[in-house]
Amino acid sequence: MEHGNNRRTPCPCKSGNAYADCCQPFHKGKRPDTALQLMRSRYSAYALCLPAYIIHTTHPGSPQFCHDTAEWSKKISEFCTNTKFKNLEILYFQETASFATVTFTAHLAQDKKDTSFTEKSYFEKIKGKWLYRSGQLFEGHAPNVITTNQLRLLPIAYYGSPILRKIGDPIANMTADIRKLVEEMVETMDACNGIGLAAPQIHHSIKLFVIRRPVEIEGGKIEWREVKIFVNPELSMPSRETWKVAEGCLSIPSIHAEVERPREVTVEYSDLEGNKIKERVSGWEARVIMHETDHVNGILFIDHLGADERQYLEPFLKSLENTIHDGTEL
Ligand SMILES: [Zn+2]
Ligand SMILES: [Zn+2]
Repeated sequence: MEHGNNRRTPCPCKSGNAYADCCQPFHKGKRPDTALQLMRSRYSAYALCLPAYIIHTTHPGSPQFCHDTAEWSKKISEFCTNTKFKNLEILYFQETASFATVTFTAHLAQDKKDTSFTEKSYFEKIKGKWLYRSGQLFEGHAPNVITTNQLRLLPIAYYGSPILRKIGDPIANMTADIRKLVEEMVETMDACNGIGLAAPQIHHSIKLFVIRRPVEIEGGKIEWREVKIFVNPELSMPSRETWKVAEGCLSIPSIHAEVERPREVTVEYSDLEGNKIKERVSGWEARVIMHETDHVNGILFIDHLGADERQYLEPFLKSLENTIHDGTEL
């Protein structure tokens, strides 16, 4: 089937409109006004096997993001050619100024087998451009996964934002505004699959961060459990023993590097009730607390790298900065 020439060719997104009046303008470079339009045009792009469009509309923080675009493009093409795109069913759509969720069922088949799935997908608007960020997948048609709670996600400050380099102000009082901010930070951290989020990363220059407490389970795996809130954190007595492992950061999406940090550290902070707490933490918990305490002091994990490694990352950081701040294509 030839798309694009015949004005009456139905759009693969199953909107019921002609392709020329539906998803084609987006594939030709028009920016979708809503995340829902982007959702539809991405489904159409999969159905028509247009990997470049998928790549250009994927957020650098997406788990699917790949720096090797040739390899990524090949993977998408393979999926497209082996899949029959039967229908796109939109179940729920919610949008704020910078985040959106679209819950949908993609009715698909591979080798005559039904491979349909339902996804609650997240989209983020960067420089006026909607990008697909991530999704939670459920097998088959699963309309029961719809949640209609109000979206309370905060815009993220990305690499290159001056606020990430400022030292946050100490918090004097736990006001209602701070409590509300903490709730929104937790939602934002979870929606972005983060394990920690500091206030400067959501454009508030204050000494505050949230984490999910890591617990080591069988086989050395980590489970990220309940939320811990840190107000005015101070670190002391780092252990002499250090360890090195790969870290990432919600503000520096798609970039990972091994960072050497002390295995243990003492942290003093206040909780939301204003109680002063002093704890000795170790392992991943110490690492996340050190990463986030760095944030409220204007420090990023890439600052801990050696000169060679920093130099290796430089082109990736430059391209990330261009993507996010100049609105150029990925
Ligand atoms: Zn369409
Ligand atoms: Zn970070």
